[in-house]
Amino acid sequence: MSALPEAVQTRCAGHSELYTYAGLPGRSWAERRLVAMRLCHGCPLLGAPCARLAMESLDPGHMVWSGVPVPPKSRDGWADRNRALAMLAEMAGHE
Ligand code: SF4
Repeated sequence: MSALPEAVQTRCAGHSELYTYAGLPGRSWAERRLVAMRLCHGCPLLGAPCARLAMESLDPGHMVWSGVPVPPKSRDGWADRNRALAMLAEMAGHE
C-alpha cells in the first residue's frame, strides 16, 4: 500500500514486495486471503484506516490492503477483485 502517515509503523512498511497479490502464496483468492490476514495481523492501521486508504487509491489492485488481497484487473479475476473491493468498502464504512 502507499500514502501512509509517516509516523505510523505499519507491518508492510519497507516490505511492499511481500504485499503484492502475485507474491502471495496460494492458488485461490481464499488461500491468498489467509496469508494476507497473517501479514497484516497486528498492524495499527488494520481495519477501517487501511481500507479507507485503499478506497482513496486510484487503483488498489494487485496489492494487499487491510488483510485483503486485491487481484489486478484481468479477464479472469473480476469476481475475486469485486469481492475484495466490496470487503474493503464495507471495512472503510462506505455504502
Ligand atoms: S493493514 Fe494496511 S498498512 Fe497495515 S500492514 Fe496491512 S496493508 Fe500495510
